[in-house]
Amino acid sequence: MRCIGIFGGTFDPIHYGHLRTAYETRAKLGFDEVRFVPCANPPHRQTAVTPSEIRLRMLEAAVAAEPGFVIDERELARPGPSYTVDTLSSLREDLPDEALCLLLGMDAFLDLPSWHEWERLLELAHIVVAHRPGWQVPREGALGRLLEQSRTAHRHDLERARAGRIHIESVTQLEVSSTELRRSIRAGIAPKYLLPESVWRIIVETNCYAQQAET
Ligand code: ATP
Repeated sequence: MRCIGIFGGTFDPIHYGHLRTAYETRAKLGFDEVRFVPCANPPHRQTAVTPSEIRLRMLEAAVAAEPGFVIDERELARPGPSYTVDTLSSLREDLPDEALCLLLGMDAFLDLPSWHEWERLLELAHIVVAHRPGWQVPREGALGRLLEQSRTAHRHDLERARAGRIHIESVTQLEVSSTELRRSIRAGIAPKYLLPESVWRIIVETNCYAQQAET
């Protein structure tokens, strides 16, 4: 069965932590492609996000040279909060026969029980959790129980069903965060070697992080 990685995020800006995670999970788990799904209105985030046209341009620049990385703009086209459950339902209509693997950093996975209709996510897709620095695998609570029921250590299980399993994959840990990048760019420190040069050129050209206040 074809296997598609789904990587959602604000990507404000996209950086090597995102790109390396997508690259390694694709290589290790054999995804046919990874779809980057930029979020329009993140339900959780308090601060304003950079206009989606600029985030999209940065994403396009970042994935241009990587075959197998594609951008999916469906959340940008949808009004209202960008709920992942709606995105997966819509992807499921377009890709009825593929295994869908929702790619999450451990921080995002730990936050899952606060997501809209989160119990439905595994009906629609598998979840692949990429280890991020400093996070522990939950053993208790709703996520502990979910892992007990659905976790698999075998990557081939992801190709055997279209949805329903959780797999934890360790990836090279790059402690880069968009929030920190925005902060240091505002402080005048160039993010060299933390994101692609092509993305940095767009940041310089649009001056998109100059004024944004961070809370
Ligand atoms: P912010 O700091 O603005 O919250 P972020 O760097 O966490 O941004 P997002 O675009 O919100 O980036 O994250 C999208 C996805 O990428 C999430 O699943 C998150 O866990 C994952 N992710 C973010 N940074 C890393 C990293 N350095 N390594 C691995 N995964 C990451």
